[in-house]
Amino acid sequence: MVIRFYNTYTKKKELFKPINKNEVTLYTCGPTVYKPIHLGNARTFLIEDLLRRHLEFSGFKVKQVMNITDVGHLTRDDIEAGEDKIQAEARRKKVTPKQIAEVNEKDFYAQMKQLNVLKAYKYPRATDHIKEMQDWIKKLLKNKLAYEVNGSVYFDISRFKNYGKLSGNTIANLKAGKSGRNLRSEDKKHFYDFALWVNDSEHLMNWKSPWCAKGYPGWHLECTVMATKYLGKQFDIHMGGEDNIFPHHEAEIAQAEGVTGKRWVNYWIHPRHLMVDKKKMSKRDGNFYTPEDIYSRGFTPRQLRFFLISTHYRTKLNFTFEALEASNKSLQKLITFIDDLQNASGRSAKDRKNLDIDGALSALRVKFIVSMNGDLNISGALGALFTFVTRINKHMRSGYISPADAKKILIQLKKFDKVLGVLFWKGTDKLSLEIKQLIKQREDARKKDDWATSDKIRDELRGMGIELQDVGAKTKVVVKFNV
Ligand code: AMP
Ligand code: ZN
Repeated sequence: MVIRFYNTYTKKKELFKPINKNEVTLYTCGPTVYKPIHLGNARTFLIEDLLRRHLEFSGFKVKQVMNITDVGHLTRDDIEAGEDKIQAEARRKKVTPKQIAEVNEKDFYAQMKQLNVLKAYKYPRATDHIKEMQDWIKKLLKNKLAYEVNGSVYFDISRFKNYGKLSGNTIANLKAGKSGRNLRSEDKKHFYDFALWVNDSEHLMNWKSPWCAKGYPGWHLECTVMATKYLGKQFDIHMGGEDNIFPHHEAEIAQAEGVTGKRWVNYWIHPRHLMVDKKKMSKRDGNFYTPEDIYSRGFTPRQLRFFLISTHYRTKLNFTFEALEASNKSLQKLITFIDDLQNASGRSAKDRKNLDIDGALSALRVKFIVSMNGDLNISGALGALFTFVTRINKHMRSGYISPADAKKILIQLKKFDKVLGVLFWKGTDKLSLEIKQLIKQREDARKKDDWATSDKIRDELRGMGIELQDVGAKTKVVVKFNV
């Protein structure tokens, strides 16, 4: 099996070969839990899930670790300035940072579950690893890669020769750009050094350290320390959205390799951003929708998942409701296809000239797998699937797909769904409030034998992509699509 991924570190598509033959070690940068996740975060988490699922489909066991950032991530992390995001939110809401982090961490798990994202092996929190982070800093100090000034500790990037290899931001480039890093810049040897430990007695979350009485760790350090703790000194894949490439991942590498002296991660994979009006969707800029915003407009987690995974991960995706609706129509084609297969009652395909189900399935399998193996080419994989659906639909309409034919196809689709996670949906297809109210009004009308109103509401819901099937006194709700 030949799987290739584009590696940001080498700037090439490379053959994927894990360190251990059967188990892939995967670290994915998790959410900063100061606000609920938005669709941009969700896109990255879903792509990570897609990659993991594809590896599992390909026969690997995957050990995934995703951190929970609950301290140290600054509002201007690009220039290492501003305030700790969790602390700023806690002040704004007049609650403790812990309360902010707890609520949003819980929300994150709930959102992931709704979107059918597989659970990671571990979700370590930064605040639970302070001791390990301090120990790491001690090692960096010992190796003379870090220095202490006024109770804070900084990484001296001039002492790490590979600095810039991931992002292209070499020291020479940084000097030329002078895109200054601000935090305590008067204390730093070079403006581009970054903080490992910050002396700050005012910080709402603070810990005693060998360098100061009250301080907190730098954001980059948590990922180095927790990834290494749970996945080892060398592991296979590290992922995060493209904004993580610099400074976050560049710094992570410097910290890790500065201690171990070995290549830390073999494959760096970075999904591109979800955009709104040509700008990155971001909590800071306020141009974001949360998954709940989308559901409250009548869309479902299943539709959102399909929309966010079905554009190739190295293409920026622009969010619009029109694009979401167009994607729903495609998803609906697949859902209807599966429904029809489950009810297929035609003659056997064997009786039909030019219809070889086994041949068509094996061609589909090859195209789907080859596409996904080629740097997760989801467009190729879905393209092959839709071509197959169109072809089989034609035969089904002419009465030529028997239950046995349908079963064969469904078995294959179930296998593909190990990768896609949208075809056979077990999660709740959450309905919007408006739709729920309409269903309730119709039930009330039915109870009063007001059939005219009941039929009118049923038609209205049908127009919204909701099909109601009455089975005795009960009503089954089938979400077809939302328009
Ligand atoms: P954060 O909560 O900011 O720490 O981000 C969590 C994850 O979401 C990281 O992997 C980010 O790179 C990713 N991310 C943030 N904004 C976007 C976006 N607009 N599109 C895609 N991924 C994003
Ligand atoms: Zn990280």
